Amino acid sequence: MTWNMEATANTAYETENSRSRKREFLHKALTVAKKAILPEQAEKNIMVYSHPVDAVQVRILDNPVINTVFKSLIDTAVDAKYGTVLSSGIPVNEKTFPELNEIVEHCVEMLQIRRPYVVVSGAVGFNAITMGSDEEPYIVLGNHLVSALTKEQLSFVIGHECGHVAMGHVVYHTAANVVGTMANAIPVVGPVAYNSACIAIKAWSRRSEITADRAGLLCCGDMETAKKTLMQLELGFIQVEGLDADNYVESSQSYRKAGVLRRIGEYTASHPILPKRIQALDVFENSECYYLARNMVPPTGTMSAAELMKAVEEQIRVL
Ligand SMILES: [Zn+2]
Repeated sequence: MTWNMEATANTAYETENSRSRKREFLHKALTVAKKAILPEQAEKNIMVYSHPVDAVQVRILDNPVINTVFKSLIDTAVDAKYGTVLSSGIPVNEKTFPELNEIVEHCVEMLQIRRPYVVVSGAVGFNAITMGSDEEPYIVLGNHLVSALTKEQLSFVIGHECGHVAMGHVVYHTAANVVGTMANAIPVVGPVAYNSACIAIKAWSRRSEITADRAGLLCCGDMETAKKTLMQLELGFIQVEGLDADNYVESSQSYRKAGVLRRIGEYTASHPILPKRIQALDVFENSECYYLARNMVPPTGTMSAAELMKAVEEQIRVL
């Protein structure tokens, strides 16, 4: 359904001549498509940058039965797994971390979400985690991450986490995470059963990360920063300044093509591998979705929403 609607919108879009008419038409077509597929999300005006598969999946999950089951797990889960982290972490506000606080405010404003409770914690190291529920989201920023990244890089990371909040991913990520922890407690059988059962969830999760990366890019406003930040997540405290992100992607690609076995692990991964995330962000920046999300007119010949989806699906395909 999504494909057909987007393809139709794209064909009609191409027949429009003037730039302003194109823009007006595209807005109208996307609004109609979004309302048909995702009425509630369209109201939040956040769908323009989301990966369509992610957006549809969130809509499917967002029903009363699943929500009741998942949400009943969340309070207990957050308390059990992250309660100490949240209570020991240093809350981010204008007195504790004024600069970090400004970045959080900027991301909240950019993505039009309610401000999450944000803490800096020593428990997650060089990482950032979003958890909780749509009503009560929490973001934990690792102390190493905060000390190593520049202000611009932190805008990408915090924008990414806020993107999960904006898209309503939080409750499902938290539930999936808790189920995983419980399964891993059962020797051998637990992880195998969990990994088999969760392939579909992980496939969605990888697309939800693509959406969140786009939110991060919109918040930091600079593609080079976004690419370098993704590389920094791999390198930790090693400086990325002298490294070329495009060379990293190219080298990784030729290695990956060499054998299927190396790609099996990606099936059960919650995130696409970093080179794929960089590639996916690159094509997004050259698509009309990027320009529309920034309230800008896409230049002539910019990749359409349908072309973007096809390109990204090709990039993040596991086998
Ligand atoms: Zn994420």
